[in-house]
Order: sequence, then C-alpha cells, then structure tokens
Amino acid sequence: MDFTKSYKSQCDAACLHCQVPLEQKQGAGRVKKYCTPQHGKAYRQRARALGLDV
Ligand SMILES: [Zn+2]
Repeated sequence: MDFTKSYKSQCDAACLHCQVPLEQKQGAGRVKKYCTPQHGKAYRQRARALGLDV
C-alpha cells in the first residue's frame, strides 16, 4: 500500500453487482461499491437471499 496516495485512488473498485469498473470520487464520502444505488440494493438483496449478512 502506498501511503502517499489516498486509499480511494488505490481502490480499483468494480460494481459488486455488474462488475462495471467504477471511478472513485476523491474527497469525503464512502468508497463507491456499486454503479447505481439500485445495483447496491440488488446486490444486498441477492446476498441476503444467499444467507450472507450484508
Ligand atoms: Zn452495477
């Protein structure tokens, strides 16, 4: 891990639902995990259906 760069710029996230690469917005806020809030919802719904604690 390179501590001279922000954590977010090193987070090569893709939407957990559809695997689309995401660009992290720098600055305050949470790390983006889904391309749309709908996908976040869909992912959590599916994970819960599989018995995961999300
Ligand atoms: Zn997505």
